Amino acid sequence: MIVDIVRKYEPITSEQIADKLNLTRSALRPDLAVLTMIGILEARPRVGYFFTGKIPQNLISKRIKDIKVDNIKAVPVVITENTSVYDAIVTLFLTDVGTLFVTGDDGFLSGLVSRKDLLKIAIGNADIHKMPVGIVMTRMPNIITVTPDESAYEAAKKIVDHQVDALPVVHVVVEDNQEKFKIVGKVTKSTFTKLFVELVEI
Ligand code: ADP
Repeated sequence: MIVDIVRKYEPITSEQIADKLNLTRSALRPDLAVLTMIGILEARPRVGYFFTGKIPQNLISKRIKDIKVDNIKAVPVVITENTSVYDAIVTLFLTDVGTLFVTGDDGFLSGLVSRKDLLKIAIGNADIHKMPVGIVMTRMPNIITVTPDESAYEAAKKIVDHQVDALPVVHVVVEDNQEKFKIVGKVTKSTFTKLFVELVEI
């Protein structure tokens, strides 16, 4: 409210701001000090406060870059490579998701199937009761992943740049001189829609 008032009436003194908010000057002092210190307002002696025009992007982008994937990740739905395409489609409906993550015999990430991957097979002549998802999935090493310590921004950027709906959140484990990926969560377009709403409501 202070920023809105200053934007509208600049230059404006702290007394005038206080008046508009029905507050005392001393009640406003800490807020004005913070707003000046972080560069949103500029105080000119004997003139009053000005709006510097420096919010909102800087503050909002800093906030988003501070949010880690670990704090926003959701529970992934994971199936194994030998699950039939039919069962994968049923799982998609029952769990109300758009992407299923797939593990190999070793329990690590081996691929994923999206709803269109499954649709493509289902409209063909394949016997989807017999065909395993391992045949139709997008396979490692072509899977775009994120780690829990990456920022929400980095994850969202990957989703946009690679034009996919979901990313598995993984811990990288080295086994037999090979990097393997343990699935610990997922981030999807819905994750970021929810985050967007939360950021506005805070
Ligand atoms: P859909 O097109 O089914 O709505 P996507 O846009 O996520 O869903 O998927 C498009 C294609 O990209 C599919 O073939 C899918 O297997 C693949 N894909 C989806 N997510 C990833 C990912 N994280 N890494 C690599 N490929 C992916």
